[in-house]
Amino acid sequence: DNTGVPGRVRVAVRLRPRNTEEMISDADFADIVELQPELKRLKLRRNNWDLDTYEFDEVLTEFASQKRVYEVVAKPVVESVLEGYNGTVMAYGQTGTGKTYTLGRLGEEDTAARGIMVRAMEDILAEVSLDSDSLSVSYLQLYMETIHDLLDPANDSISIVEDPKTGDVSLPGASLVEIRDQKSFVELLRLGEAHRFATNTKLNTESSRSHAILMVNVKKSVKGRDSGQNGNNSHTVKSLKPPVVRKSKLVVVDLAGSERIDKSGSEGHTLEEAKSINLSLSALGKCINALAENSAHIPVRDSKLTRLLRDSFGGTARTSLVVTIGPSPRHRGETASTIMFGQRAM
Ligand code: ADP
Ligand code: MG
Repeated sequence: DNTGVPGRVRVAVRLRPRNTEEMISDADFADIVELQPELKRLKLRRNNWDLDTYEFDEVLTEFASQKRVYEVVAKPVVESVLEGYNGTVMAYGQTGTGKTYTLGRLGEEDTAARGIMVRAMEDILAEVSLDSDSLSVSYLQLYMETIHDLLDPANDSISIVEDPKTGDVSLPGASLVEIRDQKSFVELLRLGEAHRFATNTKLNTESSRSHAILMVNVKKSVKGRDSGQNGNNSHTVKSLKPPVVRKSKLVVVDLAGSERIDKSGSEGHTLEEAKSINLSLSALGKCINALAENSAHIPVRDSKLTRLLRDSFGGTARTSLVVTIGPSPRHRGETASTIMFGQRAM
């Protein structure tokens, strides 16, 4: 179990159930994957006779609850964010395989349906004290190497700034909204979703072609090491050490659909759009492969997505990746390539 090991990316695979359409039109075909969750294994059908076997840190079947998915994919990252480290949770997969279902469901009508963003905030809110700590959120969309503010659609002047000394990434210009309670957070996510839809209509694209990025900034004041301890000289000022403010952030990334998109433009998108998605996902792949190989050099410069995640890669940061797949034989190629992306990250 590598939950607590910094640097390395933890990779889970999640299979979604067949949808109605697949149940009807693919009724005669077996699923292309077989899962062995206890062994953390996935078998992918190569043809009628052969299966290829892959191992993951976690294998989540179509019966895995949202709660369980949160617990294995995100909870260790959230816990380390509360301890003062940066953390990232990402979902990668073909459009329609459950990235947004996994990360972004609000679950207002049914709390069991809540996704990772909402559950993470609930755990964070339980651990911070809003008198002394602060909790703020930015919500962004990255499309064609441009960052859009999902909390303020009029705002299109967001840049990425890296502190040359600490390597910390900040986004001057992005809205930063203080969170006081769960209700206002869910409200904010809903607002962001509505803005995302409006922005994409204006840009004549779909949300599956951009990345949605939620950043949760946590500032927690922790008491000085010596406070509260009674040494031999308990009358000294030792225990009056001022509290230290510990800053960390959780980044949740709902990545653009990983499907190879048709570059001819026949599906209503441009060559530029296709190139841009391929660029950022392949740059991300290179960075997480470098992490997996324990390389000293993480090539973050190649895309805005990886520049934005720079202070979440390596060092003491924790990264968790969930790759989402569907069961249908008709998407075998895309499913295989998603599985390979996950394998290379490990
Ligand atoms: P993506 O964000 O990867 O494009 P979505 O999250 O929008 O995919 O999911 C596509 C469809 O599949 C949605 O209707 C969603 O409700 C359904 N779905 C995805 N994952 C699951 C799951 N694990 N269980 C049930 N339905 C799911
Ligand atoms: Mg989605």
